[in-house]
Amino acid sequence: MHVLILGGTTESRALAARLQEPGAATVRVTSSLAGRVAAPRLPAGEVRIGGFGGVEGLVEWVRAHAVDALIDATHPFAENISFNAARAAATAHVPLLALRRPGWVPAAGDDWHQVASLEEAARTLNGLGRGHLPGRSPWGRVFLTTGRMGLAAFADCPQWFLVRSVDAPEPPMPARTEVLLDRGPFTLEGERELLARHAVDVLVTKDSGGAATAPKLQAAREAGVPVVVVRRPPVPEGVRVATTVEEAAAWVRGRAGA
Ligand code: NAP
Repeated sequence: MHVLILGGTTESRALAARLQEPGAATVRVTSSLAGRVAAPRLPAGEVRIGGFGGVEGLVEWVRAHAVDALIDATHPFAENISFNAARAAATAHVPLLALRRPGWVPAAGDDWHQVASLEEAARTLNGLGRGHLPGRSPWGRVFLTTGRMGLAAFADCPQWFLVRSVDAPEPPMPARTEVLLDRGPFTLEGERELLARHAVDVLVTKDSGGAATAPKLQAAREAGVPVVVVRRPPVPEGVRVATTVEEAAAWVRGRAGA
């Protein structure tokens, strides 16, 4: 059985490893990465890197490599590839499972502002922050953790931004931006220190879910920092969803007849 895992997440690497554990049923696993990150963390087993060329390209790849099952374990915000996976699976008549870690939920003491897009997040910033305090900029200081690809949405914002990303972002981006190159997992202690050191007024995050980047939410709660949370796009209609690596592995094992 040949499984193609569309990856780029912690869970996709964990699933690739789980399916190839010694003693597991014989499953050939290929992981696919988009190629966005210069030095990606590589999953166990075969890896291919780069776009397929839309739905047609993915269908072609699935057929040419005799893929028996497709797992969309991409990031919850990687909307295009998830849509392509749904279309390609239907066209090639290959079963598809989406692996999506659960989203975050607000806890007592959180001041969350949920928005539908990065553009709405940018607009929401104007009403937030503590920039009115003596000695502070009137526009506030924003910790932006939504990744380097969507910075254009904030390009016209007057606030000061701390942008954390794996690789260096490229313009357009806000005029007043400090870049911090780093890759999770992050610790609570580290996030507390970061918020304090940069006198952060507002945190902006996608609802990525998972543990690796969650400590920033607790640090914000403790510091009374409001959080702008970008809601997830929906999983394409009709696609079956697993929320844990174990559940996805069981789905594959079931199909492999193990
Ligand atoms: P996207 O907008 O959904 O996809 C854009 C295009 O990139 C797709 O049409 C596809 O090109 C290619 N692509 C995306 N994921 C791919 C994969 N796993 N293997 C092969 N090609 C892929 O994706 P994105 O938001 O730019 O994210 C790119 C990758 O980074 C994803 O794999 C995702 O898991 C990871 N990631 C994304 C985020 C995020 O916030 N969006 C965060 C962390 C990690 P073709 O049409 O040519 O096939």
